[in-house]
Amino acid sequence: MTPSALLLLLPLLAPRPADDPVVGRAIPALAGPGDPHLVEGSYRIQRGDEPVLWIPPGEVLEFQVEVDLGILGEASVGTVTMSSGVEPFVAGLPMPGQAPAESGRLVGWVRTVARGGHLGYELDHSITTRFLPQDWPSVLNLEVQTGSENRKRELKIGLVDGAWTGNYRGNSHCPGCDRLEHFVKATLPWNDDYHCKKCKRAEHRLWDEPMEFAVPPETVDVLGAIYLARTLVREERDTLALHMLQKENLWDVTLTRGVSGNVKVPAGTFACREVQLGVSQPEGAEGGGAKFSGLFGIKGSIKIWVHESTGVPVLIEGDVPLGDIMDLHARIKLASYLGTPEAFGVVDAK
Ligand SMILES: [Zn+2]
Ligand SMILES: [Zn+2]
Repeated sequence: MTPSALLLLLPLLAPRPADDPVVGRAIPALAGPGDPHLVEGSYRIQRGDEPVLWIPPGEVLEFQVEVDLGILGEASVGTVTMSSGVEPFVAGLPMPGQAPAESGRLVGWVRTVARGGHLGYELDHSITTRFLPQDWPSVLNLEVQTGSENRKRELKIGLVDGAWTGNYRGNSHCPGCDRLEHFVKATLPWNDDYHCKKCKRAEHRLWDEPMEFAVPPETVDVLGAIYLARTLVREERDTLALHMLQKENLWDVTLTRGVSGNVKVPAGTFACREVQLGVSQPEGAEGGGAKFSGLFGIKGSIKIWVHESTGVPVLIEGDVPLGDIMDLHARIKLASYLGTPEAFGVVDAK
């Protein structure tokens, strides 16, 4: 099973919409009591005319990842931690010896860290996204995977000369160079050390040339899309449409608010709403090999259950393909929570 498929799925939340119109494309002022961007404990990030993003300033959610093994029962394959925060924005790098200049503005960030292992496959995968109060980039996403495989990806979205732009770079094994640190010991004493052709060592991987391309206004990354599911619930919308970039591939995503129900997970029983995700390739998009086998590696239908008023994710279910052999049913269940909005909690046991 590829735990990497499971990890990316989680964050969502949101308090009540603010009445004040906030200008600017991100959090413009340092928070304090009375900061109009801090609403019932969450930061409001304006996205032009598109639905706002709500970032809880100190939330930590821990999930258990479980897969269904048929008659063998359920196996726990790992954990996912989803956290978010807000910190001062520092523009550019300070000169040597200088303290970073406080800009008086804030950066909202969200992060998922997935750890797990199954059948000898080890994984430690983190995705961090920053929502920056500037034109370029206004979304900065960094993905780092270590363990049995090593991988880094960087995605930037924002305005370049007034045009919405995406910029993506991954990394791959060095094709061959003169750097001695890339050489591996020959196995036979009379052979020379050589530059290996392929391996999984992190230190042999180099950044690829970045790709730059046009994107629709207010395009978000995967975590931005997941946090917008909180906006859907918090603002009691029926649907919410967004554009999402995953690597260099652009997707149209529609979030739909579904049925209500109580959901039992290790952290307790919560009154939830189902959120359905519809994903399609934008009209007129080149085929370009862009395949979508499901959101975040989950194939077919995904069910996300979020807390009914705050949007905190409680349970995510879907099928994860195990090669061509079979599909595994995976469940990501909330196990503990910290710093969630006040309205979030278990249903009363009567
Ligand atoms: Zn090399
Ligand atoms: Zn190598």
